[in-house]
Amino acid sequence: MPEVEILARHLRPLLCGKTMRGINIRREKSIWPTSPKEFQMKLRGAKFKNLSRRGKYLLFELQLVGRASSRAETLTVLGHLGMTGRMFVALKKEKLPKHAVVVFDLGDRNFIYEDYRYFGRMTLDLSPIEKLGPEPLSKDFSPKVFGESLKRSRQPIKVKLLDQSLIAGIGNIYASEALFRAKILPTLASNKLNAAQIKKLWRAIQETLREAIQFGSTVPLKFASGKSDGLFYFGRSDDGENFYHERLRVYDRAGKLCLNCKSGIKRITQAARSTFFCPHCQKR
Ligand SMILES: [Zn+2]
Repeated sequence: MPEVEILARHLRPLLCGKTMRGINIRREKSIWPTSPKEFQMKLRGAKFKNLSRRGKYLLFELQLVGRASSRAETLTVLGHLGMTGRMFVALKKEKLPKHAVVVFDLGDRNFIYEDYRYFGRMTLDLSPIEKLGPEPLSKDFSPKVFGESLKRSRQPIKVKLLDQSLIAGIGNIYASEALFRAKILPTLASNKLNAAQIKKLWRAIQETLREAIQFGSTVPLKFASGKSDGLFYFGRSDDGENFYHERLRVYDRAGKLCLNCKSGIKRITQAARSTFFCPHCQKR
């Protein structure tokens, strides 16, 4: 989620007010279940009005202009980066990346959605956001609501944290990080957390995400070498990524020393995903 929030903040000023002169759908499955015909028909000539985030999704709010109906209509396009998706604005004269799946013509620039492993989406189907739980950084996410949801589940707490209907936007990295910060064992059953642990975890989730957003906002955006003029990439520079890794306290640090107690960090697999924790700091 922090990555998506940062991307939304970055793209918002680049897109707002821009009109889509044309849409090039290079891979039809990437807009599924919307058909290319519907996508083209509805979006051509539309203007970007706003860009926000819900969970790990981007919500592109568009204004449909010059249509038969005189009242201004709005439409939302849902974007999801999947594992390898990237969205950025580039000068039109720049060569399109090989895996550009949807390209929006904004005049002198293109807004490009690139995805080389095709797990992402850009679609008019908004059903994925209907079942999302509260936003972790909003008032809707209270210790009370959080605790009540946990009481109904026997799943290990780490697995439960990835359930997007519990909280929207917690990914694998931040689930491990938040549990370490709250000193809670990832394998503990969700309904076994006591009131103090629930409160600690509730706070740790917010601190972890806030810190990541704050940090991500400072990562320099990557510009292609020598072509910094108008080519905007979302910051994934090698430097940035290495720097970023050091910020994580347990994630991807198996065998390395715990920053609190100098014990070895352990890696286990839960629900087919890696979990990292300190067996000394996170005893129960
Ligand atoms: Zn430790």
